[in-house]
Amino acid sequence: MISIKGLSRKFQPSRGGEVAALAGIDLEVKSGEFAALTGPSGSGKTTLLFSIGGLLTPTAGSVTVAGIEVSGLSAPARARWRAKNLGFVFQTFHLVPYLSAVENVCLAPLARGRAGADARKAAEEILKRLGLADRLDHLPGELSAGEQQRVSLARALANEPAVLLADEPTGNLDGPRAAEIMDLLVEENKRGQTIVLATHSDQVAARAGVRIRLDRGKLML
Ligand code: ADP
Ligand code: MG
Repeated sequence: MISIKGLSRKFQPSRGGEVAALAGIDLEVKSGEFAALTGPSGSGKTTLLFSIGGLLTPTAGSVTVAGIEVSGLSAPARARWRAKNLGFVFQTFHLVPYLSAVENVCLAPLARGRAGADARKAAEEILKRLGLADRLDHLPGELSAGEQQRVSLARALANEPAVLLADEPTGNLDGPRAAEIMDLLVEENKRGQTIVLATHSDQVAARAGVRIRLDRGKLML
């Protein structure tokens, strides 16, 4: 599903020397796999996840997802591809504060061009599946952190993406709420969803099927 070859990404900070965030990564993630990217803070997890999702362009190497070389697409083509094929979950939820739960989730199907009524139906369906049937019309500010993350997960899953990418999705949640999100991810993976999750927590990583360790931009075997 994901094929990464010789991937490197350098950053030039506004002050100080160049940083090699990723240095020659070769990686395959198979369809239906649940992979956990682990490693200490600064090891390159976010950079790798964003490169898979086409949010960052590699300095060298290639990223292919579901047969499309993401790194070779133009910016507008990449945005269209992303809306259709990828779901993202972030540590800080990134919900639109003035839209309700169901409206936030609608954004994903609307972005890929589905009609309003159709988008709303998909949004309600996935929110119900994630246990939020009685929270559809709540604003993010009226939801607990765990519920907000479930809305964000619903938005990421609404388009049935080829790949779900999650960057420290439990980082802002307490133990029980983190476990609930992991339960949902494990459940979605059992339904066939390919997932790549970045975490610095061994406890979280232990729930995934495959573990990929990063250290200073390199894979540790
Ligand atoms: P992780 O997610 O594992 O904590 P990151 O991928 O965020 O690691 O960062 C890897 C390295 O790249 C770090 O040393 C970080 O400081 C550096 N880095 C990340 N983004 C930038 C940026 N936009 N500009 C400069 N350096 C960056
Ligand atoms: Mg990170």
